[in-house]
Amino acid sequence: MGQHVRVAVVGSGFGGLGAAIRLRREGMTDFVVLERAGSVGGTWRDNSYPGCACDVPSHLYSFSFAPNPDWPRVFSGQRHIRAYLERITDAFGLRPHLRTHHEVRLMRWDPDALYWELETSRGTFTADVVISAAGPLSDPRIPDIPGLDGFPGKVFHSARWDHDYELRGKRVAVIGTGASAIQIVPAIQPDVRRLTLFQRTPPWVMPRADRAISAAERRLHRALPFTAAVRRKLLWGIRELQVQAFTKRPDELGLVESLAKANIARVIEDPALRAALTPSYRIGCKRILLSSSYYPALAQPNVDVVASGLAEVRGSTLVAADGTECEADAVVFGTGFHVTDMPIAERVVGAEGITLAETWRNGMESLRGATAAGFPNWMTIIGPNTGLGNSSMILMIESQLNYMADFLRQLDGLDAFGGRVALAPRPAAVRTWNHRVQERMKRTVWNTGGCTSWYLDANGRNTTIWPGTTAEFRRATRRVDLSEYEVIRAAGPREGVRSAAGERETVR
Ligand code: NAP
Repeated sequence: MGQHVRVAVVGSGFGGLGAAIRLRREGMTDFVVLERAGSVGGTWRDNSYPGCACDVPSHLYSFSFAPNPDWPRVFSGQRHIRAYLERITDAFGLRPHLRTHHEVRLMRWDPDALYWELETSRGTFTADVVISAAGPLSDPRIPDIPGLDGFPGKVFHSARWDHDYELRGKRVAVIGTGASAIQIVPAIQPDVRRLTLFQRTPPWVMPRADRAISAAERRLHRALPFTAAVRRKLLWGIRELQVQAFTKRPDELGLVESLAKANIARVIEDPALRAALTPSYRIGCKRILLSSSYYPALAQPNVDVVASGLAEVRGSTLVAADGTECEADAVVFGTGFHVTDMPIAERVVGAEGITLAETWRNGMESLRGATAAGFPNWMTIIGPNTGLGNSSMILMIESQLNYMADFLRQLDGLDAFGGRVALAPRPAAVRTWNHRVQERMKRTVWNTGGCTSWYLDANGRNTTIWPGTTAEFRRATRRVDLSEYEVIRAAGPREGVRSAAGERETVR
């Protein structure tokens, strides 16, 4: 048997590192963080495409317990966010827990031993509790395009940028117009010979008021940390106030649409292009994108917008669904990720011997975004319906960490007499929670705005977004309500299980 730990954390992005920090702050050291890549950072390690930055202000898009007074810009770039994650890995003493190049291939619940068996690319582990922080934006999605295999040029996804490939002077096609593509386009447009953008659905794009954070501001935040906290609170408060329009009164968003239309009109003179770039669905239905350089880039003479999806590839010719053709040397897919069909779910086998993917075949469902019926002592960070349309995911992650910490506390309390204990959410509690979430979802702009997006699953159900304020989610996840859980107890004590240190035998 491999190493036994109290907790195995899967992934080392914001979610996994946040979980690890919280475990340490709760006084726990018996845990590992399993990471498939060679370094920490998750999506902020993998997405290194030109122009990559976060469109949520950095002072809000960082942990409240690890403020960074030195954020260089209002919207800092990927390099700085990744460096922040590396820094906090050191600052909170996480390195000894980190197991890089450990891809989790399977996690299987043992209903007799009451623990999880984890098979990784570098050996097995057992863990009383699994915190799955594999992330919803971790597995790139490239659409099945007929003929793509025969394309003679270069092909890559935005999250797997090939920095060795020189785009300068090439004819480049960018597929998609999501948050990634709209950052890539202005970053590469000055260098490439010809840029053809395949736009299936136009996004709503608002200006991004980015600027460098001055040395004086940074000094102030360093000298008086409460000033950075106030800044964060303001950024948070503004977004909390906006939520109501998304969740309850999408009609109010018409005013924002006029601002977004003015943003197009200011830059795009050609009426045909203007029309092609103007969305026909309610703003907010898809993520509102922020960029002040996207439309100016599209107005450049070396850029063509094909207002249709990529449908086929014939040799080096790309063919759109409307029949438009173009020649390309390279194709960059900004086509998003497997979100509602999370690949990690295929690798989790629960108490009934079935995978989480099978359990979720009609749509993802969890209790309070964290636990799933049939999967005892298993919890996910950024689980179903914990996403946000307009604010910082770090706020949601921190709420989930509160829930995780209380889950472990309750488990310890129940285990006080040396038996072995697991907590499994009651199916009725999961149903009730999801019913409430879906009832609230009915009025939201994501469901009523007249668009399709990755927020919706194959059945059109919104299983990704939280239909409320971050404060409401914080309240809903402050404590684990034991009445929502079944307490599973093992028949006898467990013997001879190796501890995290691998030196002493633990008897529970
Ligand atoms: P995305 O939002 O899922 O966008 C995928 C794009 O690909 C859509 O425009 C989609 O068109 C298009 N597409 C798919 N198949 C196509 C085809 N055959 N032809 C043409 N277009 C096609 O993916 P993403 O841009 O990578 O963003 C994913 C998420 O990552 C974001 O929503 C956000 O949460 C996060 N992100 C955040 C930031 C940030 O600054 N914070 C930056 C990047 C990404 P349709 O709209 O028609 O489906």
